[in-house]
Amino acid sequence: MNPKSIKALKDINLPKLVGTRANFTNEDNEPVNLDYALLNPAAKYGGLYAPINLPLISKKEFKKLSNMDYNKFALEIIKKFNFNISLNKFKKAIDRYNKFDKSAVEIKKINKNLYINELWHGPTRAFKDMALQPFGELLSLLSNGNKQLIMCATSGDTGPATLSSFENAKDIKVVCLYPKDGTSQVQRLQMVNQKAPNLKVIGIEGNFDDAQQALKMLLNDDEFKNTLKDLGYNLSAANSVNFGRILFQIIYHIYVCVHINKNEKPIDIIIPSGNFGNALGAYYAKKMGANIDKIKIASNKNNILTQFFNTGIYDLNNKELIHTISPAMDILISSNIERLLFDKFGPVRTKELMDNLANSKKYELTNDELEVLKAEFQADYCDDDECMENICKVAKNGILIDPHTATCLKLTQDDHLSVITSTAQWVKFTPSMIKALKNRDSSDELADMKLLANKYHIKLPKSIIKLFKEDEIHTQVVKKDEIKSNIIDWIKR
Ligand SMILES: *Cc1c(COP(=O)(O)O)cnc(C)c1O
Repeated sequence: MNPKSIKALKDINLPKLVGTRANFTNEDNEPVNLDYALLNPAAKYGGLYAPINLPLISKKEFKKLSNMDYNKFALEIIKKFNFNISLNKFKKAIDRYNKFDKSAVEIKKINKNLYINELWHGPTRAFKDMALQPFGELLSLLSNGNKQLIMCATSGDTGPATLSSFENAKDIKVVCLYPKDGTSQVQRLQMVNQKAPNLKVIGIEGNFDDAQQALKMLLNDDEFKNTLKDLGYNLSAANSVNFGRILFQIIYHIYVCVHINKNEKPIDIIIPSGNFGNALGAYYAKKMGANIDKIKIASNKNNILTQFFNTGIYDLNNKELIHTISPAMDILISSNIERLLFDKFGPVRTKELMDNLANSKKYELTNDELEVLKAEFQADYCDDDECMENICKVAKNGILIDPHTATCLKLTQDDHLSVITSTAQWVKFTPSMIKALKNRDSSDELADMKLLANKYHIKLPKSIIKLFKEDEIHTQVVKKDEIKSNIIDWIKR
């Protein structure tokens, strides 16, 4: 066989990603490699990139995985994918977990049937670090001296985690859009206090859906992209529209199954969900062989996912975003549901459903399609009062959970082995914690944070305490139609 055909064969074996939307299943949906999808996350017809198939982990391999620390474990899982990016680069990416507390992931046992998978031991104290730290390293390594503008829209935790991941990165600039009044005080300070010159933070009038839509529009705006190109910049995104995020969100769901019972008995995984990236990671983990029974989707009063998984109807009509005490889940347009639709029903059907959403703000699954989802998913939601009760219940075990994690309690069952996925440390939400635990308002957030830390024997992260002592730098708030020129002006400077 000549070398050229050997190379061609190898390429066929490389795992590819395809766009989630197409008019004809095979003809207009060209597969791409991972490196391409990381740098160019927007796929055709407004879709996202998703894997064509996922590697399966064998029983024997699970045995081998059961004694590894998180970093080694993560690299073994990545190896299985056989992506077209060197393992050496992936290893450097995973080494970012050395910046976390003792281990990237901490698993706590509440009782015989209930565990908490704490994913917030990274620098910004939310699970977004689990993906954004390695993703940031990987993107820097792939940029190869080419300049990148990385954009993100945040409902509170993606922003800080993205800024932290790319702080002072060579050749990379980051712009972060956040809803002006939509985040907690700590989340906001984690963004507006950023000093590194390659980072820009913009508050926008509107909510997270507005911020995310502004981002999606810019990613598909040829004029904007060409202007950036003339200035020497490629445009990419750090939201979970980027498959690079999802990749690192698969690993910890496999890890928790191996850790609890060597992947031998099925476990329900309960996940506080907004953009559905974390839950999608669990779904992919299950497909790869993690012994997951049901994936349970917890929401706050913005319960569009509860409605979707129970009725098959995704309906934005007459829905207003509600401010809750779990702001990272104040979302109505849940982007990663699209990857689930693609995986279950294919790109043609996905495009049809997404077109319906764009045209009439609504789509509806058939009964058969709904049954397919119900076989693997369950969903429910909590209002703020229930959520605060749940915080108190778990606090009786000496463990503080944040308001997002607290929505999960609703979906536990005493006779089912379950894991609650804990997505943020409570220190980001002290006023809500005080309201829940002391039934009063907080007038001095830092003092109250110290009060709770004392009572529950928790060492507060220095990075959080110092936020209250620094000056705010990025105080700018702009209207939606000014975002583009604002960014271009900053790049030019
Ligand atoms: C982002 C976030 C969520 C929602 O995760 P998705 O992957 O968007 O579903 C839940 N809780 C916290 C604390 C978050 O930061």
